[in-house]
Amino acid sequence: MSAHSPLSNLAAAPVRSNGKKFRAGVLGATGMVGQRLVHLLADHPWFELTEVAASERSSGKTYAEAVRWHLESPVPPTAVELVVKGLDPSLECDFVFSALDSSVAGPAEEDFARAGYPVVSNSRNHRMDPDVPLLIPEVNAAHLDAIPLQQKNRGYDTGFIVTNPNCSTAGLVLVLKPLADAFGLEKIFVVTLQAISGAGYPGVASMDIQGNVVPFISGEEEKMEAEPQKILGKWDSRFVDAGLSLSAHCNRVPVLDGHLECVSIGLKKIASLGEVREALRNFEVDAGLASLPTAVRNPIVVLEEENRPQPRRDLHVGNGMAAVVGRVRECPLLDVKLTLLSHNLVRGAAGAALLNAELLAARGFLKARDLASPSSDKVLVKA
Ligand code: NAP
Repeated sequence: MSAHSPLSNLAAAPVRSNGKKFRAGVLGATGMVGQRLVHLLADHPWFELTEVAASERSSGKTYAEAVRWHLESPVPPTAVELVVKGLDPSLECDFVFSALDSSVAGPAEEDFARAGYPVVSNSRNHRMDPDVPLLIPEVNAAHLDAIPLQQKNRGYDTGFIVTNPNCSTAGLVLVLKPLADAFGLEKIFVVTLQAISGAGYPGVASMDIQGNVVPFISGEEEKMEAEPQKILGKWDSRFVDAGLSLSAHCNRVPVLDGHLECVSIGLKKIASLGEVREALRNFEVDAGLASLPTAVRNPIVVLEEENRPQPRRDLHVGNGMAAVVGRVRECPLLDVKLTLLSHNLVRGAAGAALLNAELLAARGFLKARDLASPSSDKVLVKA
């Protein structure tokens, strides 16, 4: 399958030439995002988890010993006995997810890509690089076309880096996409109420966040103002920004999971509230994309109740992969305002990375790595 095959041609699971699943490694497997990935990979139809890596604090221990597990279900049996490795790029896997702390992710991801591993990253370090896709499959799958240039620029062979956006950008851009397509976007003003799990573990001290709101998240407003420009922009042998005027205020609130965002939007074309709601509700991905295991056909869900969405009630809509929208109404400053909710650890991190990896597999970008011989074998599609 060529890297440019239309998704709608996809019918079945991509597999290695021996008919087996692709082997996945998780760098930063012990962290908040890493353990979500470990959980999501437990029964994945296309990928099997074969390697976990983290810091020197964890390496050498079994995964069960090293991880401080935060999910409700237990550590998956497939991960319990895996021995945590360090960041040496010699793991027994075909590609890696990176959920590394940003203090180490930059060079570590480059080392893995240079050693031939596709790297599917959650970290901020390479998001804005001029040759790295910042990917939301439902929005800008065409940005994968940057990969061959990245490999050429950096002298990578089979390796490359693909990133997913910041957790608060992910939900926002998903909601902006159908409005951009239908009406054009002029100005966006967004205020976030972000969950504490977005800060990793142990994150914000309980003394700072209990019964409180912290109106500052380091670097977050800058990321929210820059990343949508790249994602909603075009790839035309280079990334061309969307040219939006965007202002973000980011706040940490005492909620465990789920980022809520209050958004005002100025549109280029006049639209009624009914048309805006319809554009959001009708946002549907094509059958090929919908067939990726982690995808949902309608990634935006519009609620009618006047007091929704709420993190506690609406976090798991679409298995955590949907952006949940409510309170679509007129804005006296711009044209329309609404509230959106997205799961920061799923849509904004682990689920987003998994969906990116599935898209890469479906488009033929993942190859089986044979550690004994560096040559890669062909990707087959199981009938
Ligand atoms: P976290 O809970 O602090 O986990 C960080 C991971 O990095 C742990 O596995 C840790 O291993 C590992 N690590 C730290 N220092 C290391 C070193 N020197 N060498 C090797 N590994 C090291 O953070 P997180 O919330 O999962 O976030 C992970 C990444 O995803 C970050 O870059 C973050 O910005 C990004 N992200 C997070 C979210 C979110 O909602 N939390 C959303 C989107 C993106 P040890 O356990 O061994 O220390």
